[in-house]
Amino acid sequence: MFLSFSVWFKRYSLLVWVIFICLLTLYVKSKLNSNDENSVEGFFWVFSDAHVDIHYRNDGDPVTHCRNVSLTNKTRIIRKFGHFDCDAPRELLTSAFATAKNIDSKVDFVIWLGDSTSHRSSGGDTLIPVFENLSQQLRKFFPKTLILPVLGNHDIVLTANRSTRFRDFYNQTQMNLLLTDTDARRTFLKGGYYSIRFQTLRNNKQVMLRFVVLNTGMFQPYILDFFNTKDAIEQIEWFNRTMSEAFELHDRVLLLSHLPFGINEDLLYKFYNLRYEEQLLTIIKRYSSIIIMCLSGHRHYDILRVYSSGNITMGILNHAAISPVGYLTQPSIRKYSYDKQRLILTDYEQYSLNVLEAERTQNDHWSLTYRFSSWYYQRKEITSESLFHLVQLIRRESFYLKRFLLNKHHSGKRLIKNHDIIHSLCALTLFNFDQFILCSRILKNRNYSYDNLIGNHSIDINAHENEQWREYRMVYLRVLLGVFIFVLNVLIICYRISVKCASRGKE
Ligand SMILES: [Zn+2]
Repeated sequence: MFLSFSVWFKRYSLLVWVIFICLLTLYVKSKLNSNDENSVEGFFWVFSDAHVDIHYRNDGDPVTHCRNVSLTNKTRIIRKFGHFDCDAPRELLTSAFATAKNIDSKVDFVIWLGDSTSHRSSGGDTLIPVFENLSQQLRKFFPKTLILPVLGNHDIVLTANRSTRFRDFYNQTQMNLLLTDTDARRTFLKGGYYSIRFQTLRNNKQVMLRFVVLNTGMFQPYILDFFNTKDAIEQIEWFNRTMSEAFELHDRVLLLSHLPFGINEDLLYKFYNLRYEEQLLTIIKRYSSIIIMCLSGHRHYDILRVYSSGNITMGILNHAAISPVGYLTQPSIRKYSYDKQRLILTDYEQYSLNVLEAERTQNDHWSLTYRFSSWYYQRKEITSESLFHLVQLIRRESFYLKRFLLNKHHSGKRLIKNHDIIHSLCALTLFNFDQFILCSRILKNRNYSYDNLIGNHSIDINAHENEQWREYRMVYLRVLLGVFIFVLNVLIICYRISVKCASRGKE
């Protein structure tokens, strides 16, 4: 009996071993999967401002915004992924989505923050095909993911029939690929705005995440004439009703708006018509306790600001663009992490493409630019309150200010002057022009000098990498010094022991 078992074991031990390993792998895999489903950490992508130009030519001359080939320049440089003087090629948009999909395709939802088409052709004949391509590409790369498209000011066909403008837009641009929710579709067809509720965990009692998507182009002072006055008023009334309903149902709201609130601190104007902004902010003030964050685009800058009034706050995170036009940003995309249970943002990672390197290598190699928590030394929680605290740090300490300015201007061509920095600091929380001007005067009178805070900001270097490398070098030096002192101590102790032993030996 024993003999036959040992023979059997010898013969089949390899098979038993293989089965054991397979079962173990299956067990571990099932455990990991169940962890995934129960995990409270979720992720989502945010893309903004692609400004795709259908007239872009890979061999186009930047002097002609990459639309025509230069007759004098015989060496035609190929720029597949864009140039700082031009709106973006389609290939750049595809590259951004493909990169996002490669990094993480299993996100919970994808947010598109608006402005799909070129600054140079705003007519329906170019806008419609560009947005249609956007709908198809987004759906192609994220076939089953919830997609939340936001309209930008460059997505509105100003010449279209006012009463059917958004219905026509929806039908002609294949927005049915992106927006299928019946209620959302109904209000979108009316005015380009909508709201969607989303369950983040498989738990019916859980608080719902609600996206409230505004069509902010309608509130811009310079295009008011293209809308009926009642359109903007109806949207504000809808916003009020929606926020009130969200409050009653205990939802948590992610507010999505293409235009950020407040002042353009560089060109000194307000993004919104004053009256409309006041009405919107009054509603925001009333329901700020349920707003997770406001995410916006339009400026192409990677910046943040906080609306605060009394003891209420609302953080606004403004996203860098996919389009590199105007040296405002390298093409960038952002992946957020959030807590599905508490419904708060926890962190984000920003990825960017170095346009000059892409031109040299003809390759689109996107890399991690920075992670919010480690860049700003914050714990993993991005709330309106924590942003407000960060704003105070940016105003007080040069370390944080430098990092804020590097984010904002890292591909900027011009030198950042003292008054630019003062304006940036005041605009962080001040949305009213009188307060903003007063703040600028106070800081100027105090003779704060911020010049030379950014010394060598060249578009060819990776400013973020440089900045963090300097920090890592300090850490390495400290560790090295620590190890040196430790070894020195050990050597001294060893020497003393050996001296003692030697003297005892003599005794
Ligand atoms: Zn815009």
